[in-house]
Amino acid sequence: MDARLHTLEIIYQAHQQEISSLPLACKKGCATCCTRNVTLTTLEARRLFDWIDQHAPQLMEKVKEEAQSPRQIPTYTMNGLTDLCMAQQEVPEEPSDPGWGACPLLSDQGICQAYEARPFACRSMVSKNSCQKDGFAEMEEVTLTVNNVLMQYIEHTDDKGLTGNLTDLLLLMEDPDSRKAHEEESLSPPSSHFVANRPAQLLMVPPPHRDHVGALMQKIQSQKGA
Ligand code: SF4
Repeated sequence: MDARLHTLEIIYQAHQQEISSLPLACKKGCATCCTRNVTLTTLEARRLFDWIDQHAPQLMEKVKEEAQSPRQIPTYTMNGLTDLCMAQQEVPEEPSDPGWGACPLLSDQGICQAYEARPFACRSMVSKNSCQKDGFAEMEEVTLTVNNVLMQYIEHTDDKGLTGNLTDLLLLMEDPDSRKAHEEESLSPPSSHFVANRPAQLLMVPPPHRDHVGALMQKIQSQKGA
């Protein structure tokens, strides 16, 4: 197994443990956050595509059908955002509208059809209150910090890969040449729909959350070495 996929599994498990004791309103069938604007890394897209290919290959038809629909196209990555903030530079605007429609992997009943392999952007969308009822999500600040740090860590793990929209990356990972290039860490952005990932220069952790995040990172490191 690609060591980067192994690290990704450990990060997903560590995040699941983090949120498992939180009083969350999220439940099956609530899909307010399942829009067509989900972005992720190539590493996660490889894992997601493999799962779809093995368990529900028909889902790729829906992804292809919606390939011309409007969706959020990232112009910077999570670590790119951190670099911009460190340099006190302006963050470019990135058009995104939930009204553009639902994620192509969502069923008509509001169920994720690739739940086991969903990317971190979906895993991190947790809320104490019902988004369906209130129209917005709410989470503890430390949960937000953990989400940001783990997102940075995933990109760092895939620092020779790309960030893109779920639709674009699934179509890219369907191409054997692109998959091979990702495995060999030689994948270049094939179009303006993708942004090159970067290593994390600095983790975005406010002082009150440093102990919590430090313990979490130690746990992940020890599991990686186990
Ligand atoms: S991958 Fe699944 S959880 Fe994520 S937005 Fe799509 S339907 Fe929702």
